Amino acid sequence: MTAHLDVLVVGAGPTGLALAAQLRTYGTTFRIVDRSLDRAHESRALAIQPRTLEVLAPFGVTDELVGRGNPAMQLRMHLPHRVVQIPLFDIGLADTAYPFLLFLSQAETESVLSEHLRGEDVDVERGTELVRLERTGSSVACRLRRGDGSEEAVEATYVVGCDGAHSTVRAQAGIGFEGYAYPQTFLLADLEVDGLEPGAVHTYMTGAGMLFFFPLGSPATWRLLAMRPPGATDTEVDLSLLQEITTRYAGSRLALRDPVWMTDFRLHNRGAAHYRSGPFFLAGDAAHIHSPAGAQGMNTGIQDALNLGWKLALVCQGHSPEELLETYEAERAPVGRSVLRFTDRAFTVATSGNPAIRLARTRLAPRLVPLAVRARGPRGRVFRTVSELGIHYRRSPASTSGSRPPGRGPRAGDRLPDLPRGFQARTAGPGWHLLLAGPPRLWSDGRLAPVLAGRAEVLTVHRLGEQSPWPGVTHGLVRPDGYLGYVSRGADVNGLSGYLDRWLRRV
Ligand SMILES: Cc1cc2nc3c(=O)[nH]c(=O)nc-3n(C[C@H](O)[C@H](O)[C@H](O)COP(=O)(O)OP(=O)(O)OC[C@H]3O[C@@H](n4cnc5c(N)ncnc54)[C@H](O)[C@@H]3O)c2cc1C
Repeated sequence: MTAHLDVLVVGAGPTGLALAAQLRTYGTTFRIVDRSLDRAHESRALAIQPRTLEVLAPFGVTDELVGRGNPAMQLRMHLPHRVVQIPLFDIGLADTAYPFLLFLSQAETESVLSEHLRGEDVDVERGTELVRLERTGSSVACRLRRGDGSEEAVEATYVVGCDGAHSTVRAQAGIGFEGYAYPQTFLLADLEVDGLEPGAVHTYMTGAGMLFFFPLGSPATWRLLAMRPPGATDTEVDLSLLQEITTRYAGSRLALRDPVWMTDFRLHNRGAAHYRSGPFFLAGDAAHIHSPAGAQGMNTGIQDALNLGWKLALVCQGHSPEELLETYEAERAPVGRSVLRFTDRAFTVATSGNPAIRLARTRLAPRLVPLAVRARGPRGRVFRTVSELGIHYRRSPASTSGSRPPGRGPRAGDRLPDLPRGFQARTAGPGWHLLLAGPPRLWSDGRLAPVLAGRAEVLTVHRLGEQSPWPGVTHGLVRPDGYLGYVSRGADVNGLSGYLDRWLRRV
């Protein structure tokens, strides 16, 4: 006898753990399996972006993450003859409760998510590998293998590959993973550094490349990241090699000691040709891998998961049509592509040996960086992008403006800003949230009843009073992932009604 699941989540890295947390809030029948016996204890991804802190807040884990982490408010750029201080995330982030880049090791992030799942009675089945998938009519036959060699057959309606760069789900679904490997090798270490001012990100720029120190906090105070010098390809990564590189970039004032983790790695830039193929979905590193420039990788994976989980849940429970699942690729593939482009550009500027780019790094940067620091507009736009608060789904089929689209304020497909503060928390419960503003007569129970009938289980109504938070906007629908699906002016409920008829069935 095989047990039938709505969803099989393959992989319990940050992406799979976040997906499991969301499926749990909807009561979806799912299992989460991972072939490793234990979660990874190396630090790996080292920063959490503001948008990720926001999307994880509904699970009650964000305060714990912030409590364990280390917000960095400043980048200190060490140029040949001076140090330029660049405030981080000081502009362009007024509408979030988390206007900082939080340094926290991936091991800690996974530990917080795992503890949350344990508290919710979700069993992460470790030592359990997905070995085969086969489509059988309307479901998928999945074969799982345990460490002792025993196998189990499981049937699932949907399978989500959160199984990393070498994804089995991606391979079994026949989805391509195109891209390239960068020629350089990188060196990474978590260690202590004497002579480095605490609480800031430090970067040393030379013609040869860049050396970074990030304020990780735990398991060591600093994360070092540098390119392996040409000619030192096969040398073992040890403290003397790292000290030699550090001295070459920063002079003799920095002393490295007490390494907790040292490794080298190659980087790739690859994206899945599709994020969905029938009942198979890809999220996180299974769908995109790239350089760590801008600390986007783990964050993008967690946000993939939280774009998908509620859609799977509502479709499985019959609240939404299958068509809703098509919006996953429509919304997340463009985000993935833009992260691949953006990290590739940043990576090229930081590492290229091309004479023009070397010149830009050594000669132009010292002149341009101070000017760029003063250019508040462009700087705010960069922070908005890096923080992932600027992600929107305006071109999604699930983003619609009413017949009287608002001229100002957020548009359909935008993230619900946390202004006034606490607004996001009010609409954080599972399901959709209908925001109504304006004179009470506009939204009498009699007018609303036909629109809301049969949807109470997954649609909560919030009456905001006379004053709309956004001039002109009288009503809007907040999706379960905190993006606005529908916004409109006026009191015409036909647009709202049409939107709900398409995406939220009456049960
Ligand atoms: C050395 C290193 C340094 C990094 N530094 C950074 C950084 O500074 N910043 C950054 O953003 N990112 C960094 N990353 C990348 C970051 O770790 C990933 O983006 C992140 O782990 C992706 O999470 P994920 O859950 O999608 O995949 P993963 O964390 O890879 O998790 C996939 C899980 O799937 C499991 N699995 C695989 N196949 C199967 C199967 N067939 N059956 C069952 N389980 C399976 C694996 O055991 C694994 O636990 C780094 C990675 C490495 C290796």
